[in-house]
Amino acid sequence: MTQVTQDREKSREQDGPATRLGTIVAVANQKGGVAKTTSVASLGAAFAELGKRVLLVDLDAQACLTFSLGVDPDAVEVSINEVLVGRGVSARDAIVQCADGVDLIPSVIELAGAEAQLLPRPGREYVLRSILEPLRHDYDVILVDCSPSLGVLTLNALTASQGVIIPMVCEMLSHRGVGQLLDTVTDVKTILNPGLEVFGILPTLYDGRSKHARAVLADVGQRYGLPVLSPPIPKTVRFAEAPALGRSILTTSRSSKGAVAYRDVAVSLLPRI
Ligand code: ADP
Ligand code: MG
Repeated sequence: MTQVTQDREKSREQDGPATRLGTIVAVANQKGGVAKTTSVASLGAAFAELGKRVLLVDLDAQACLTFSLGVDPDAVEVSINEVLVGRGVSARDAIVQCADGVDLIPSVIELAGAEAQLLPRPGREYVLRSILEPLRHDYDVILVDCSPSLGVLTLNALTASQGVIIPMVCEMLSHRGVGQLLDTVTDVKTILNPGLEVFGILPTLYDGRSKHARAVLADVGQRYGLPVLSPPIPKTVRFAEAPALGRSILTTSRSSKGAVAYRDVAVSLLPRI
């Protein structure tokens, strides 16, 4: 054991069992294009601005989060894929520091094969949890960007997490997907992770001028008996520009309505992390 590790262990022992562990939050919705990735990048940057130690985990083979944080997926040496399926590969070897003051475990296209490789493994839903659990000592918040599916990788994210945030576009048909996802959350709570809580539905791509969007927003909390995070994230063209610059909207467009909304949502979540 190195001196640094010994010191860290000692201070942990002194802190005792009350030492605060970081909170793992899955950002999930099996529908694509609902702003999961945008929300992970933006909330991550907002928590970093608030002085939190933040780790983001890209759990989507499309690697959009990785790319949008300025990391070239083709140049990644150790990704979440190796950590999940390559036995003995440490998550710490995969962590890269990004702009916006956040750390990232990047993804690569090969992650598309991980589901099949995990399937025959015993305890396949617990692999991500075993990877992230030790990192809760190093980070205040760990946000997991899920892929648009309810497959083994998303089950891993829900099993590893204390909380789940469900981004939802305020349109009528969006409801269907949310119901299905909540059934999965209920199953995960019953079988795999009793401590999982829905931190809230996050209304995204919100157009406050649309009567329909306002009606959906007013209905959604009651319909599912769940908290609705506030404020809703407005639809703004600024979001389309940020990923190409490798930064989140919080730095590319500091005072835009979208950046302000994500900051406010992050502050509202502080008591939970
Ligand atoms: P997901 O990860 O759920 O597939 P993304 O975060 O990739 O969704 O967002 C889908 C698209 O919508 C992206 O092109 C993104 O830039 C855009 N987008 C996300 N949030 C907003 C917003 N509030 N206003 C406008 N465009 C947005
Ligand atoms: Mg995405």
